[in-house]
Amino acid sequence: MFDVSKIRADFPILSRQVNGKPLVYLDNGASAQKPQVVIDAITQGYAHEYANVHRGLHYLSNLATDKYEAVRGKVARFLNAPSEDEIVFTTGTTEGINLISYAWAAPRFQAGDEVVLSILEHHANIVPWHFLRERLGVVLKWVDCDANGDLDPQAVIDAIGPRTKLVAITQMSNVTGTVVDVASICHAARARGVATLVDGSQAAVHMPVDVAAMGCDFYAITGHKLYGPSGSGAMFIRAERMAEMRPFLGGGDMIREVTRDAVSYNDAPMKFEAGSPGIVQQIGMGVALDYMMGIGMQAIAAHEARLRDYTRDRLAGLNWLNVQGNSASKGAIFSFTLNGAAHAHDISTILDKRGIAVRAGTHCAMPLMEHLGVGATCRASFAMYNTTEEADKLVDALEFCHELFG
Ligand code: PLP
Repeated sequence: MFDVSKIRADFPILSRQVNGKPLVYLDNGASAQKPQVVIDAITQGYAHEYANVHRGLHYLSNLATDKYEAVRGKVARFLNAPSEDEIVFTTGTTEGINLISYAWAAPRFQAGDEVVLSILEHHANIVPWHFLRERLGVVLKWVDCDANGDLDPQAVIDAIGPRTKLVAITQMSNVTGTVVDVASICHAARARGVATLVDGSQAAVHMPVDVAAMGCDFYAITGHKLYGPSGSGAMFIRAERMAEMRPFLGGGDMIREVTRDAVSYNDAPMKFEAGSPGIVQQIGMGVALDYMMGIGMQAIAAHEARLRDYTRDRLAGLNWLNVQGNSASKGAIFSFTLNGAAHAHDISTILDKRGIAVRAGTHCAMPLMEHLGVGATCRASFAMYNTTEEADKLVDALEFCHELFG
């Protein structure tokens, strides 16, 4: 039974005040708060169990290595990946997608080859492909969403042409909350011999993910949005694709042997993990994934669907509020403006005075903002520990803004 007050009690920061008011944290799309078990794991890691991994033959190094390596299996279970050898640790989605761009795409793509992208993408799933456009002459093919924020999977499939090498697509927009039917896209792309990369930074926080059923080649997650430490993350890479990849960063750990004249590489996935990693960060992410799986991703999704429906109905009652994207298939993320009456930064400052944390700006999604015809918006993004009472506080604060700005 999902008990939101019990979950809230696990997150110490949620009982603090901000500007003399109880914190209402609605900036989860940017980064989520951490439960005590994750904080404890970080403290325990540094206080009692710290040493570098994969290197020493001493007790602490073996202990840290075992705990660190165990996270690969946890990520594989979380994503239903066929094997933990298909999991590469990263510092987050940005590094994960850059890894694929450098290590898999760059050696294989030629001028005129295409990457299909949706307009919903975060810059982390745009700029690495622009690098290939600049350096190799790769063509970026964009597929727009409609005014509702919906992305038609068939339009993405139809954009696949004879020169398409990759479809790189988000599973959930960090601006509109739109949930994309990535499985249909991945299966159709695979049938055409085209690889797929899914940005799961937002989606994996809010719904069960099954990369085996989805049929993608690459799936990115970022630990800090998954209630884990910043600087943690992972990339699922299908074994066939991993076999095609060249090493990206060079250094310790990713090699088998180095001589004056030659170098040979470690087996995958370590071949793609150079240097001393974020040991305690990844261990913390493993604890965060255990925490989420302990609650159950279905239960989290059901709670957040209730929050989404409640908030959507309440915001719909504010006829002076312009919410961007109202897809029937969306998560509990709401980006809005006051119809030009006030700048998003001013609104967020007023909300902050009431202890309500939201994000204001263009959300690292400038092409989408341009497509929607908006500049900066405020974004309220919910997580498993939020409540309908917090949605009410958001609405009250917005009504106050409306009175103030007219
Ligand atoms: N993709 C999406 C959809 C995001 O929302 C974010 C973060 O906001 C990222 C990618 C980048 O994640 P990170 O900065 O953790 O690497």
